Amino acid sequence: MTVSSKEADATSNEGSAPAPTPFFVDKNEPKNDAVDFAAIESAVKVILKAVGEDPQRDGLLETPARVARMYAEMFAGLKSDPGRHLAKVFEEDYDEIVLVRDISFCSMCEHHLLPFTGKAHIAYLPSGKVVGLSKLARVVEEVARRPQVQERLTHTVANLIEERLSARGVAVVVESTHSCMTMRGIRKPGSLCLTSAMRGAFKTDPKSRAEVLGLINRVST
Ligand SMILES: [Zn+2]
Repeated sequence: MTVSSKEADATSNEGSAPAPTPFFVDKNEPKNDAVDFAAIESAVKVILKAVGEDPQRDGLLETPARVARMYAEMFAGLKSDPGRHLAKVFEEDYDEIVLVRDISFCSMCEHHLLPFTGKAHIAYLPSGKVVGLSKLARVVEEVARRPQVQERLTHTVANLIEERLSARGVAVVVESTHSCMTMRGIRKPGSLCLTSAMRGAFKTDPKSRAEVLGLINRVST
């Protein structure tokens, strides 16, 4: 079974009850109550001054508060357990590859605090237990919302799926563009960083590995 993340959302087994009004509250959204907004605001003011700006000028007055809210959002996954999304599993007599491709994400490079954005592809071989497809995207989303490096993001997602689903095999391939390479330093726009983590049969059986990589790389028709 191969689906894109958009289809995964549509075929998710989550209920589609109307959102409560006036605001939709996503109970699955991670929360990071440890974020100290006031401290971020003063730090941003210090940085603005340090680069020669005037934090009191009109255009910058609300910037520190805006940046604090943005960091709270970007790092919302820091204190949460992304594995909780894999707690609800379904007994299913299906033991072939399940693949969700093109799960888009945005994370923050922990070395420069600049975003890296891209797509994750996740495949697993169930051993009697499957999970709602959109939950795989939830895991990526939450692991991405931390100060991060792409290598750790990739193997964290693979480890969680292997452990929580007792999967016979897991393949996670992540491709992304790092702002710290495209807009500063070496300045190479268009460069793509690819990482992969193979577990179980996808690591030990060359045929299974070739099959899953073929599906991940297959051009959509
Ligand atoms: Zn970086």
